Amino acid sequence: MTVFDHREFDHHEILHFVDDPATGLRVIIAVHSTALGPAAGGCRRWQYASDADAVTDVLRLSRGMTYKNAIAGLPFGGGKAVILADDDAPKSEALFRALGRAIDTLGGRYITAEDVGMSPEDMRIVSEETRYVSGLPRSGEGAGGDPSPWTAWGCYLGIKAAVEARLGSDSLEGLKIAVQGVGHVGLHLTKLLAEDGAKLVVADVNRDNLKKAQEIAGVSEVSPRDILFADVDILAPCALGNVLNSQTIPKLKAKVIAGAANNQLSTEEDGARLAEREILYAPDYVINAGGIISVAHEFLDQSSEEQVRAEVSRIPERLHEIFADAKQSQRPTNVIADELARRIVAGGADTRQIA
Ligand code: NAD
Repeated sequence: MTVFDHREFDHHEILHFVDDPATGLRVIIAVHSTALGPAAGGCRRWQYASDADAVTDVLRLSRGMTYKNAIAGLPFGGGKAVILADDDAPKSEALFRALGRAIDTLGGRYITAEDVGMSPEDMRIVSEETRYVSGLPRSGEGAGGDPSPWTAWGCYLGIKAAVEARLGSDSLEGLKIAVQGVGHVGLHLTKLLAEDGAKLVVADVNRDNLKKAQEIAGVSEVSPRDILFADVDILAPCALGNVLNSQTIPKLKAKVIAGAANNQLSTEEDGARLAEREILYAPDYVINAGGIISVAHEFLDQSSEEQVRAEVSRIPERLHEIFADAKQSQRPTNVIADELARRIVAGGADTRQIA
């Protein structure tokens, strides 16, 4: 496996491999950029088909965090960690402590939080070994804790912005929305959308999660195989990445794609494929920034819920700017968002301040 000429390698500052036979922990931590501050981004625990897949994932996810934090106006760079889940090394206190020690050796250049497969309680164990962790179980009145409700709320606001831009409506009443994946974020999002009168179809490979979603009024089920191609107005990918590609895009029926999953596009060109079909794509790292906004405020101890709410509420205005620029310049929204993020990073830390 090569790294420096890997197609997703983008001058990442650190790629840190840890193998801890005592606990079975195998983790890769990627710091993409610290230009705007220490690299912040979640830790994913996932059973990868190969080590190479894990490297690809961490390279893409960490760069996405650089862009996400930049556009969200946070004083953080981008990083991510992926734990290579293994049935022989299940979740354990020892494993999360080893993760905490691995993060601590980077001396604050990477700050972790939860992502897919990790919980606030897991982060609490990590915090026994390092202070470079956020998304800890909430105590008292402040913001923080599980970031997924904030991610869902930001997505909900972002969906409304995209609907306004593409469908010319400020209401979700009666619109058909497909939600792929009703885990931490998808379930919260489904509730918010249902409360606004949207007609929802959902899919999940996990029956328990699906059951919870079906208990919400007016939600029906579609098979995981068919959800992307459901006859809906809006598709909200809230499972894993790489769902929008040359095979899937020609078969999409939605006019708007706006959801929480990271790395929804397989390649940059997939943004152009969507634009050609006049499907409005809300760049994933812009619409799903609610969670990292909460995590950042918690870490910096500027943690009133009102501040987090105010910052997450700015997601629609950022999307509107991107949509307007894309429309005016006739270029795909993902290209506009990437350029904006790179401009902010190039401007350096002076231009960034948490509100
Ligand atoms: P999660 O693991 O709680 O939920 C993901 C759900 O998707 C699970 O219920 C899983 O069973 C389901 N799923 C997996 N493969 C599927 C498939 N092929 N079809 C249908 N369902 C499938 O994760 P989450 O925290 O809700 O995050 C969801 C996505 O949002 C991830 O891509 C994550 O990186 C991204 N994200 C999450 C946050 C956050 O605050 N949790 C923040 C930003 C981005």
